[in-house]
Order: sequence, then structure tokens, then C-alpha cells
Amino acid sequence: MSHSKRKQLVFTVKDKCRVCFACVRECPVKAIKIIRSQAEVINERCIGCGNCTIVCSQGAKVFLKTESDVKQILAENEKVIAIVAPSFPAEFTEIEDHRQFVGMIRELGFSHVCEVAFGADMVAREYRKIHDNHSTDRSISSDCPAIVFFIEHYHPNLVDTLAQIASPMVAMARIVRTKYGADSKVVFIGPCIAKKAESDEVDEAITFMELRNLFAQLNLKPENVVPSDFDPPQAGKGSIFPVSRGLLQTANISEDIINENVIVASGRVNFREAVKEFENEKNERQHLELLCCRGCIMGPGMSPGGSRYNRRQNVSNFVRKKLENLDFEEWQKNIDEFSSVDFSEQHEVRDRRIDLPDEADITKILQSIGKAELKDHLNCGACGYDTCREHAIAIIQGLAENEMCLPYAIEKLHESVEELHVSNTNLASTRQALKQSEKLASMGQLSAGIAHELNNPLGVITMYSNILKEEAPENDPIRKDLDLIVEQAARCKKIVGGLLNFARKNQVNLSPTNMTDFLNQSIASVIKPENIEVKFENRIKQPMANVDQDQMMQVLTNLEKNAVEAMPDGGSLKITLEDTKDEIIISISDSGTGISKENMEHIFTPFFTTKGLGKGTGLGLPLVYGIVKMHQGKIDVKSNADPGQGATGTTFIINFPRNLGE
Ligand code: ADP
Ligand code: MG
Repeated sequence: MSHSKRKQLVFTVKDKCRVCFACVRECPVKAIKIIRSQAEVINERCIGCGNCTIVCSQGAKVFLKTESDVKQILAENEKVIAIVAPSFPAEFTEIEDHRQFVGMIRELGFSHVCEVAFGADMVAREYRKIHDNHSTDRSISSDCPAIVFFIEHYHPNLVDTLAQIASPMVAMARIVRTKYGADSKVVFIGPCIAKKAESDEVDEAITFMELRNLFAQLNLKPENVVPSDFDPPQAGKGSIFPVSRGLLQTANISEDIINENVIVASGRVNFREAVKEFENEKNERQHLELLCCRGCIMGPGMSPGGSRYNRRQNVSNFVRKKLENLDFEEWQKNIDEFSSVDFSEQHEVRDRRIDLPDEADITKILQSIGKAELKDHLNCGACGYDTCREHAIAIIQGLAENEMCLPYAIEKLHESVEELHVSNTNLASTRQALKQSEKLASMGQLSAGIAHELNNPLGVITMYSNILKEEAPENDPIRKDLDLIVEQAARCKKIVGGLLNFARKNQVNLSPTNMTDFLNQSIASVIKPENIEVKFENRIKQPMANVDQDQMMQVLTNLEKNAVEAMPDGGSLKITLEDTKDEIIISISDSGTGISKENMEHIFTPFFTTKGLGKGTGLGLPLVYGIVKMHQGKIDVKSNADPGQGATGTTFIINFPRNLGE
């Protein structure tokens, strides 16, 4: 085959490629490379079978269009001969009379319109000669250019077995040049893409789809052209070639097909298997009839959508009619006339094989896609390669990527989702901790400040009340009051000390406490107006718990005071004490104004208060929060400030471990 003008035949339209790997799967020679998740055709490896253009549902694989080159040839030359492949009845089913079809081609500017099928007639005779003479022991048919490229590129050791016979197209090109002059330009029209690169002896090759485009551009309709028949030499049985089982059958040699000396295989899987077997089993006198497509009628240059059965039917009908009307004598005369034409063809070794990588490298890649053991080799084919091993080899050869492995990609995705989830959770809890520690830090600063300022005046109060007490007469009633002042000042000092502790090292001074008594005490210490009803619901089963009594008392009194202050017009204050085996739960609930949604996020912030100047300090809840945290407890708030949503009110719930410090 002489194809010096070997052009790139298939291209990827990048925008349309959705990386489904259908083209990788269908490519018989793995000439499609996936790079950065984009499919790319490697021209050197491509055999032009056009399978990928058929299987790509997105239209992302397109073949080289040469219509404009044909138009240029027509414009620049007088004698341009169209040679039409015998599969045309399978494509142009809407044209009833083939003479109209010929007329339309002439209208495009072709001086002659001939049938490639006559070339098939001649070539079939050459095959028959080989067969009759037993001249070659083993042979592979050379009529399908994609097959010839396949052998030349990937089975160079079989090039010698390729029949040294021209394809029907090249044979016909030689015949028409013999008949109509060597200076004639020849354009092939057929169902095949590989023909575009097959031979320099044909000036251009277009597909039936491109021919349709040319018809459309000139608005050519069957009914508007002068019908005429093909120019001589007219074809005979060669017309059946597109639906026969190869040229030998076209030449009426069928016994050997039955005797299994002739193996016929078509389609991308079958032809490769047949070649493999042919290579390995060295049967004598075996002939391989190979077609890359499932017959030329299923070629990639046919309009999509036609069924194989219908196409076969259309070709058969045409051939039947043709043979009924064939002037057999005339045909025989033509056969004799062109018998002297040289139909031989040489084939070259053009080795495009890539060396197999080292076994160690393959194993390494397999491990990197999670296929450490044989049982992990799912061989699911989702990547486009038949086996995981083939995929790994392709990765090393730079043709494929790890991510093409679906199980691997899914696993990676799961891992990423999991990692994302973990880091999200971490982020949320870190944020929460940060917020709390910010609050605690400001609490600490605040407490330290207050404690420092209060310590001295408290010392003075204690000292002077003690002096006053000593100076007062033995049974002066004022002594009782002074006792109270001393006692309360001492309590204040303890709290202040506690605050300083909190600021410095967050310490609690735990002691076993009866929570029922403790709560009763806290309720008694808060001043409540008449119009507030207080209810203590005690459901505790085991009242003893370890708390820092001074600090926990501050928690309770602060919460109770807030509740009372939220009910200026009266209402009910309900305190509930509950426990579990390990926890004490206290809830303080009021039917007051409630806390608005906007205020809710600020209530634990130091100095936040909604109470009037001189009334609130905004220090209660931050202190409560700090103390509860030091008891390793939790504080929750539920509140409704909108009467439209039901009764207003607030509930603070604190819980802390019962046995803290044990
Ligand atoms: P203060 O009582 O000095 O205002 P707190 O820190 O105790 O400071 O409370 C902060 C704010 O939280 C209050 O000003 C009030 O707006 C709101 N608040 C606290 N408890 C209640 C409650 N039981 N009902 C309504 N609002 C409350
Ligand atoms: Mg308060």
C-alpha cells in the first residue's frame, strides 16, 4: 500500500467529549489517549477504522472531511472520474433508480461515474488464481485498508502473508486510467474513512455522508437530474462484495469456507481474535478474509441509524436486478480486456508497536489503583480496557490515567467525602471551642479586675464591723446586725477569692452537697414580689452531688434573679431538680418577656444587658457560664419572646456531673 499522503483521519471535538471512554473501548488498536480527562486520537497509532466516530454518542469524534478538496479537483480538471463503492444501495435508499443516483453524481461535475464493483470482479479473479494455484500457503485478504494498516502497524511479522493484490478501489483506479487516460483524476466515493489514506493512486476519497452534503449544496434531487447508467466497464457479481463473506465468496469459491480453510471475520473484536489465532496456530493453507467493520455496509461513512438487515436487503435487491439485466458477453469482454492490468500491490512493515513495560512497573501501577491482588482485578472494562492489567500497561505507556478506573475513582471519592466530613466536624468543634475560650478569657479578665477592686473595701468592712462589734455593749441588739455584716462580708471575700481563682487557674472547691437543701436555700435567698408564684418541682432520686457551694449558689441566684426581673408584671417561676445516675439537671423556667432571637447570641457576652442604666450589669450570665464550665457542665437556653408564637418565657437548663473530682 502506498499512502505517502497519510493524513490524520479522526479528530476529537474537545468541547463535546464527556470522557465516557466508549471510544477507548471500541478502538481496536488503543489509539486513543486520555490526557487530563480528555480523549485525544494518536494519529500514528490510528488505523482509520472510524469505529470511534460511530460509538461516540456526543459527536465528539469526527473524521477528516475532504468534500472541499473534491470540489477543487472538479473545478480544476476536465476529466474527473468518480468510482463508487458497491455499498451505495445501502445508503441511498430513497433513490429508486440507481441511474438517477449516477445522474446526480454527474451533475456535480464528474466526467465519468464508474463502479468499484468491477474492480472487485477483477480482484476476485486474482484471489481465485492464488487459490487455484496454491501459490501462497497462508494469506490474509488485503481489500480492507484498516486491516492492512492493522497488520502493517501491529503484526509486522504477518505483512508477508498479506495478499499482494490491490484493493477493489485501487484496481478500479488502474482500470479507469487504462480506459479513460492516465491523466484522469480519480475520486473514490464509499462508506469508508480509511480509504482516504489508502493509496496515492486515488486523488481523493469521500464518504457517502460527504456526497450527501455535496448534493445538498447544489440542491440536487433525483427527480431533477438526467438519469444515466454507470460508465463502462460495468460490474458483474463484484457488486455483491459488500454483503458477501469476502472476495473469495464473491469469486464463487465457497467449498473452502465449509472446509474451514478460509476463515471469515468482521468487526473490531472478531478480526483481532482471528489475527491472533492465525499468528499462533500455524495451519497450512489457511486464508483469512478480514473486514474491520461488520461488512462495508456498516462503515463509518454511512449515515447513522440504518439497520444491517435492511442495508443487506437493499444491496441484494440491487445486485439481483443488475445481474438479471447484465450483458454477460460484454462483461466477459471487459474482464478479458483488463486482465493485462497489473493488480499487484506491495505492503510494508510499519511497526508502531510499543514495547511492553517491565513486570515490576506494571505491578506498581496496579497497586496504585488498588489492585494489589489478583482478586482485586475486577476487569470491569469501565476504563475502556478489557483488563486491569491492560489499563495499567496503558498508564505506563502514557495512553491512560489512573482516574479512568471507576472502582478506584469511587473509592477515592468516598475517601474524600469521609475526609471532608471529618474536617468539617473538626472545624465546627474548633470554632465552638474558640468561642468558648474567648468568652472564658474575657470572663477571667473581668473577674480578676472585679476581685482585685473588691478585695480592699471588703477587708475594710470586715475590719471595721469587727471593731464596732467589739466596742458595742454585750447585749446591744446592734451586735446581731454587726454579726450579719461580718458573716456576709466574709462570704463576699470568699466569692471574690473564688473569682480570683477562676481567673488564675479555673479552680473549684468541691464539697458533697444535698442538692434539695441547696436549691431550697437558693430560692429563699432571692427576693420575690407577691405577684410571682414560685414552684419547686423536686424529682431527684439521689440528692448528693459534689459542687463548689459558693459558686454554684451564684449560678442559681443569678438565674433566679434574671427570671424574676423578666416578670415585672408577675408570673410563675418554676424550678425543677432532676438527676440521672451520673448527672444533676436543674432547670429554671419563667413566664417572663423571653429573649429575642437577636439577643440570644449575646447573653453570655460580658456587659451585655437589656436592663436600664444602673439596673443591669451584664455580668450575671457570663459568670454563670464560667462556673458551670468549671463544673464540667453544660448550659442550655430555650426562650420565646414572640407572643405570636405562643406563651413567652425562658428556661435555663444546667447539668453537671454528680461525682466531679472523685
Ligand atoms: P443583667 O441581668 O445584669 O442584665 P445578665 O448577664 O444576667 O445581666 O443577663 C444578660 C441579659 O440576658 C439580660 O439583660 C436580659 O436581657 C437577658 N436575660 C437573662 N435572663 C433572662 C430571662 N430569664 N428572661 C429574659 N431575659 C433574660
Ligand atoms: Mg442578671
